[in-house]
Amino acid sequence: MTHGLRGNRIFTLTGFQNTKAEREFDTIIAGGGAAGVGAAVGASLAGAKTLLVESGGSLGGAASLRGVITYCGVYTFEDPPRQVVHGVMREVLERLASRSAVTGPHRHRGVFLVFDPEANKRVLDEVCLDAGVNLSFHSRAIRVHKEGNRLAGIVLETAGEFSEVTANSFVDATGEATLAHLAGASTRYGNAGNQLNLGSLATRFGGISAEASVTADDIAAAVAESRGRGIGPFSKDKSVVCRLPYSADLVIYVASHDYDPRDRSSITEAELAGRRQAEAYLEAVRTIPGCERAYLVSTGPEFGTRESRHLNCVYQLTWRDVMNKRGFEDCIALGAWGAEWHERETFGSVMEAAPGNGFYQIPLDCLRSVDTCNLLAAGRTADGDRKAGAAIRVLGTAIATGQAAGVAAAQIADSGGISVPDLQRELFTQGQTATPEQLAEMRVKPPWEPAPREFAKAKIRGILFGGRD
Ligand SMILES: Cc1cc2nc3c(=O)[nH]c(=O)nc-3n(C[C@H](O)[C@H](O)[C@H](O)COP(=O)(O)OP(=O)(O)OC[C@H]3O[C@@H](n4cnc5c(N)ncnc54)[C@H](O)[C@@H]3O)c2cc1C
Repeated sequence: MTHGLRGNRIFTLTGFQNTKAEREFDTIIAGGGAAGVGAAVGASLAGAKTLLVESGGSLGGAASLRGVITYCGVYTFEDPPRQVVHGVMREVLERLASRSAVTGPHRHRGVFLVFDPEANKRVLDEVCLDAGVNLSFHSRAIRVHKEGNRLAGIVLETAGEFSEVTANSFVDATGEATLAHLAGASTRYGNAGNQLNLGSLATRFGGISAEASVTADDIAAAVAESRGRGIGPFSKDKSVVCRLPYSADLVIYVASHDYDPRDRSSITEAELAGRRQAEAYLEAVRTIPGCERAYLVSTGPEFGTRESRHLNCVYQLTWRDVMNKRGFEDCIALGAWGAEWHERETFGSVMEAAPGNGFYQIPLDCLRSVDTCNLLAAGRTADGDRKAGAAIRVLGTAIATGQAAGVAAAQIADSGGISVPDLQRELFTQGQTATPEQLAEMRVKPPWEPAPREFAKAKIRGILFGGRD
């Protein structure tokens, strides 16, 4: 039994011997993926003493742990595309661009940018540290302390040692909504009717010349031909095809398995099946002209879960809202990615674009836990129906919902509640486009073009990141 201090009150945690009581924070963000980074920077820039806890050893989440190396959702699919996610995302892209570690926008089923994952890790470290975020790696949230309908503290585990951190507000950016689940907050797995996006193990192939052109159709044809020769096992045959900056390595997301990431036997089976498939895909890739000397640089390293638990929030964003271009008074982020669905039974995937290939509004209420008043969702854990959830989960949008959740959490820590106009204003001050009106006002250019004067003066560039320009 150990004791923790929160304000003037003492609470008791049972079941963890030798738990060290640690510092108190205004806001704690659980999970250091795209959403967690957005949230931590947003909260810290809004004035909250912020702790970001991450079970792994680096930031980036799926970008570092699951071979996801394209930022989707940053641009609309219009021609020319419009950037709708700025703020923390823009800072990340500029720092990647200064290292020549990000490409310009590519068009496939949407518009995305490919980045170098190692540079991305460093950039995310820098962006968090420059914003004053306290980082805690190898810190897995394993238990929580609640006071009524509020979260009060988290127990973290590091190599069998336990420590406990307290705060006034929390953001669940764990992807699996682990924090909310541990807190007994209302969550659900996937969506109604057992609807859940399929997971895939990323495979990265080296030894391919930069000049060799490899398309999604080439991969599908190579898989079909190899299958005919008795090679396998294969699951998906089509994937977005990414070539990395620097190495021109090929990254595809084909090796797939239907599993439950909450069940250790099931996810173990998926990891084993994924690696078996990766070898078969390597054989197939080697049959594509220019890829004869291909080798497997990496898998994963973890199997990539596209969807798991969501928080049940005050409002669930629906695909109907997206298609009707519904306006929300509490709009806090703009989405641009379509409903990208990976089917568990057929291993096929479909993409339904946003209306007019443009952007749509995301309300704060789909980030506010329905029953735990100081807990917010961000990224994959946000509340959307089957298709809306499949659209807002991508990295660029996750940074945007994260930044909004972080600012909202900072407000809760400061005053106990959220003022939507103040939240929207703060996001704009941080360089983020919270509403369509703000987007129209912002008129910024992509990071590889010089930033206009008015943006250079914005808080996020001028004050908060040390006035680089
Ligand atoms: C195969 C695959 C391909 C994809 N392709 C793309 C793509 O091309 N472009 C794109 O934009 N998106 C893509 N996505 C989607 C995208 O990766 C996710 O939707 C996105 O990573 C969500 O970000 P997040 O921060 O919410 O979650 P995550 O990236 O999953 O980050 C969650 C973080 O929380 C940490 N964590 C978990 N539990 C705990 C705990 N208890 N305590 C402390 N930390 C914890 C994890 O270690 C992780 O770092 C793909 C996803 C998959 C699986």
